[in-house]
Amino acid sequence: MKPPQVSDEFARETGDLTARRCRIGLLVYLLFAAAGAVAEWRVYPQRGSLLLATLAVEAVVVCAVLLTTRKPITHPKSAWIVLLASVSVCSILALYNAAVDGDMLYVLLTYMSFMLVAAMVIPWGAGFQLAMNVGIIADYSVALAGGARTGPVPAYDFLAIAAGAVISTLGAHYVEEYRRRLFAQAAALRQANRSLEAATRARMELLSGLSHDMRTPLSVVMGYAEILVDDPALSENLRQPVHSIAREAKELLYLVDSVLDLARLESGRLPFHRSTFRLAELVQPLRETTTDLLRDRSVHLRWEIPDTLTVDSDEGKVREIVRNLLSNAVKYTLEGEIAISAAPNDGGTDIVVADTGIGIAPEHLDLIFDPFHRVVPEGDAHLPGSGFGLYMVKLLVALVGGTIDVQSVPNGGSTFHVWLPPQPPSSVLSPES
Ligand code: ADP
Repeated sequence: MKPPQVSDEFARETGDLTARRCRIGLLVYLLFAAAGAVAEWRVYPQRGSLLLATLAVEAVVVCAVLLTTRKPITHPKSAWIVLLASVSVCSILALYNAAVDGDMLYVLLTYMSFMLVAAMVIPWGAGFQLAMNVGIIADYSVALAGGARTGPVPAYDFLAIAAGAVISTLGAHYVEEYRRRLFAQAAALRQANRSLEAATRARMELLSGLSHDMRTPLSVVMGYAEILVDDPALSENLRQPVHSIAREAKELLYLVDSVLDLARLESGRLPFHRSTFRLAELVQPLRETTTDLLRDRSVHLRWEIPDTLTVDSDEGKVREIVRNLLSNAVKYTLEGEIAISAAPNDGGTDIVVADTGIGIAPEHLDLIFDPFHRVVPEGDAHLPGSGFGLYMVKLLVALVGGTIDVQSVPNGGSTFHVWLPPQPPSSVLSPES
């Protein structure tokens, strides 16, 4: 069973669309009637005043409908007004033809063709279409009774008009059915999307709750481990393990903080701290950590960031972007080179982190920026990671108004290219943000 709001939404959308298209249809009809009048005038100049009077009444009816169908057609009044207007326009034409001894068949067949096209374009439904057609057939009968001319075998004409009525009513029915099905599919997709968003939100809330609770004990572990490392009384054989405890606890704290930041980033609650800073100075501590991490590997670190290069952005966020890219480069490069370079570009700043590591297969390149998406080849599953580093980078880059792209060759290395704008985007500079 369909949830009730779907049919409500469907009716609302149908109403809006119908009202809009009715107005366009009526305008087209006015143009068509004017062209017909000019032709009629030229062929039958003697009908002049009657023709003018007929068209004037018709134009008034059509304009009145144009003004009154501003409300959606589902509004009962609008629907009745359009129905009455259509039947009266048709009646006016019938009366005119009866008066001037005109040929009713062509007029009504033209009118029926109009309604046929209307059934395909205006989604007012089969019931409405049927009512219009009944009105047209009634008009035809009245005009004939009033003395209008028709073909030599009136039964054929009647059959032609009845066929038009059936076809356009069926057309309206199928158009409505088709729209209803499309609408139900779209509604199901919207619902699935909402559930997905709710699930992601719940996951982030759980993660940020956990991270929050883990922060305090981790800080205590890290603090004591650092005190112990500096304690001269610590025996030499324990110094290395305690140093490892301190380093790993620090890594974990980073991770916990990142999850908390991510939750804030996703909910748009991460504040922007604008400043102008030297990029080289900002990332210098990362250079030391990276050198430290690469000590046991044959990986050369190339660092090309000009001392004079300044950036106008949020220091913390830029450092986090570079930190994530560098830590990935370290994680996925066992030999060769890791290079970081920066240079002014297009008023802003280019930062490029390149490595000669395991690379990324082309089919995964679009996925690596998705949350919690890890694309670690078999055999490298032992590599630590959570799969949200690049997602975080993507959100941070968007927040600072920059762009990021990646080029990679499996087993040939990866190059991440970040561009920072000359200044932060206005969205983060406005007082409300
Ligand atoms: P992870 O914690 O798994 O590193 P990320 O979001 O940082 O999560 O990265 C997502 C995926 O992108 C990783 O699982 C990895 O497969 C790939 N990736 C990221 N950076 C690199 C890189 N420099 N070299 C090779 N693969 C990378």
